Amino acid sequence: MKLTKRVAAIAAAGALTFTGAVAVSVNNSDAASAAGCDSWSSTLRKSSRGAAVKELQIRVAAFVPSGQVMGTDGVYGDQTVAAVRGFQKAYGLTADGVAGTKTFSKLRSLTSSDCTPIHFTYREASNNCGKGFTGNSWHKANLRRSLWQAEGLRRKMGDKPLKITSGYRDPACDRSVGGSGSGMHTTGMAIDFVPMGSQTYCSITKAATRNGYGGIFGPGYPAHSDHVHADWRSGKIWSASKCGV
Ligand SMILES: [Zn+2]
Repeated sequence: MKLTKRVAAIAAAGALTFTGAVAVSVNNSDAASAAGCDSWSSTLRKSSRGAAVKELQIRVAAFVPSGQVMGTDGVYGDQTVAAVRGFQKAYGLTADGVAGTKTFSKLRSLTSSDCTPIHFTYREASNNCGKGFTGNSWHKANLRRSLWQAEGLRRKMGDKPLKITSGYRDPACDRSVGGSGSGMHTTGMAIDFVPMGSQTYCSITKAATRNGYGGIFGPGYPAHSDHVHADWRSGKIWSASKCGV
């Protein structure tokens, strides 16, 4: 426990790199550590602002209305109200768009000690051609939001395991897998998914259209027949003709 918290503290400070040398313990019931990932105390509602709102926006970014991409500006506007409402609905809470004790509690229960969501890790999203995570704190923050959106996608697909094949890639790795070397994966804002169990590429693609993504590429788009790419760029470019998207 003591070591877990120390590791979490280091991770929160952004000093931990993901080389595979340190196993960050994930204890879902460690509410104290999870709570250390946010500064939520009093209820947040429309017109609230600050760091507490920004953290909330990161964690409910998957639940904005379809076609929108969450702006994490720390201002609780209409988009945040809608996203909180979407989150509450998805988890069986009263959908009033106000973030209070029950919403905070649910979000914390979904949070690992390193502030990522419980079902996804930095490591699985930063294989980076076998090098592990090589980015900086900006890439890491982007990747954390990407993982939170993956958690939302997983929930929308029935809370069954969902496989990530690629997330953060440095420019050299991106080029070596056929990318431009400067695409969305090099920012940490993109994740590639593949189906498991009864999932299909198209079921992932369709769920992704309701998950706060600006970029979605799947079956029918060149070189995307074996994964679904989703990112949170601010513009909207969706292409997966074989899935009707
Ligand atoms: Zn991709």
